[in-house]
Amino acid sequence: MSATRTLELRQPDDFHLHLRDGDMLRAVASISAAHFGRAVIMPNLVPPITDCAGVEAYRDRIMAALPLGSSFEPLMTLYLTEATQPAEVERAAVAGLIRAVKLYPAGATTNSASGVRDMEKIFPVLERMQQLALPLLVHGEVTRRDVDIFDREQVFLEQVLEPLRQRFPALPIVLEHVTTRQGVAYVRSADSGLAATVTAHHLIINRNAMLVGGIRPDYYCLPVAKRETHRQALLEAATSGDRRFFLGTDSAPHAREAKLCECGCAGIFTALNAMACITQLFDDAGALDRLEGFVSLHGADFYGLPPNRKFIRLQRESTPQLFPSVVPAGTDTVRVFDPGMDVFWQVVATMDIAG
Ligand SMILES: [Zn+2]
Repeated sequence: MSATRTLELRQPDDFHLHLRDGDMLRAVASISAAHFGRAVIMPNLVPPITDCAGVEAYRDRIMAALPLGSSFEPLMTLYLTEATQPAEVERAAVAGLIRAVKLYPAGATTNSASGVRDMEKIFPVLERMQQLALPLLVHGEVTRRDVDIFDREQVFLEQVLEPLRQRFPALPIVLEHVTTRQGVAYVRSADSGLAATVTAHHLIINRNAMLVGGIRPDYYCLPVAKRETHRQALLEAATSGDRRFFLGTDSAPHAREAKLCECGCAGIFTALNAMACITQLFDDAGALDRLEGFVSLHGADFYGLPPNRKFIRLQRESTPQLFPSVVPAGTDTVRVFDPGMDVFWQVVATMDIAG
């Protein structure tokens, strides 16, 4: 624990966020906008966002869900399917509608049924994206039934990502929500053009949180949390100052009834307390001087964006914070991530200038 009690940082960005739609969007958009300047918005709605018209309409719904006067900027993405046309991707990128394209292997996670089964079918799109230097965001898990769920990221690196990078060496790629030490090592082995987002929850929980003493659906997410050794590798990467690792919360709200049932959904809602939790982790690791890089600078740099103009102030309180256990969403509620550890830090202000 450091003696530092207040911190000022460039306003952070969230490079992997699910805002959903409808009541849920209206419930969670302002929560992300309270801390983050920008967020890369995942396109896995039902149906997914696969063309320019879909991107524009979804962006408009997000803007309408934000509080009046909010400067939050959604960085939109397209959902890659085997039918996606290179011309549509180029049109969206050139018009400034999208910042990236998301690849879901079919069946990998929530609403990924329209994802990609045969990688060769998307080669023409990847070729065009490489020419445009438009980032490909990958959900890095294979979905074959014969691969153990805890091994799916590592197998993806070997069997999908490495061949893809050899074929498209200049295509910028983000390995989204990296969860294994093999993933961390793989990103570190690349000279350029490869980065990884890291979530708050994968920095905090290992698979015991989900499975020991009873099954806890609120800690179920995809990629699933792994062993402690992997969590430690993620924490080491995030706090190392390495520019290839940056925050993407993967905050993924589901209504309570969709989490707590016979086949509960994957996803953890962390938008409300991700910044507080991460600051506590960096403090505990003696790495507060590297926090701004991880949450505010490395990701923007990878995407070729300037740092946010605003700043945030964080304060270390003398007693641990009590986060709300749920937030309302329409007629339902969403469970807020319980980090299971004392978190003394909180975001207390957003400012136009430092100090
Ligand atoms: Zn996600």
